[in-house]
Amino acid sequence: MYDAFRTRYTLSCPTRGEAHVPLHAFRRLERLPGPSHPVVFRVEFDCSCGEPHSALVAHDDLDWAPLGIVDGTFHNVMTDRAEPIGAELADVAARKIQAGEWPWSFFCYPEERPRPVFPSSFSVLAPGGQAIGVAVRCPVCACVSVNLVSEEHVDVPFHNDAHVGVVDHVFREDVLATVESFRAELHSARFDARRLALE
Ligand SMILES: [Zn+2]
Ligand SMILES: [Zn+2]
Repeated sequence: MYDAFRTRYTLSCPTRGEAHVPLHAFRRLERLPGPSHPVVFRVEFDCSCGEPHSALVAHDDLDWAPLGIVDGTFHNVMTDRAEPIGAELADVAARKIQAGEWPWSFFCYPEERPRPVFPSSFSVLAPGGQAIGVAVRCPVCACVSVNLVSEEHVDVPFHNDAHVGVVDHVFREDVLATVESFRAELHSARFDARRLALE
């Protein structure tokens, strides 16, 4: 489900069979209702074949596989095969988190502070120029803030942009209902630069 070497999710494409999708190509994430175990997210993504698709992604795969904490694979360049990740990646991730680094973070606008977060808190993403606009539901205050970040900030665990753009208002829920309405709001929004260092 996740290729840690290339930092790509492996999702199905009706045209090509398989697509290797970076997190920044996700467009909308929605937790499926109901008490399902494991929790499952419906993900809309822009596929490299040029079409948008949707896929179901388990919570563990979404949040933990990029850290090597559940079954994942990496592309072994020596053998040219996908091989299971050993415990090493998970160890590295655990050590970094203990040292106060966080795999993903965002700037919460209403709380005026950076917060650690996981991909399952991402709501809608849309590219805008060189950057990605990402709507994040704060795990602490539950408000949605919109940050303008680099692709690496989204794709690569423990890569956090030093500064991010922060939209100077909270987005209404209906704006987040579709990628189109989010994109339109994003284009008319004002961004302030904020430092993202977590204390
Ligand atoms: Zn496709
Ligand atoms: Zn918050």
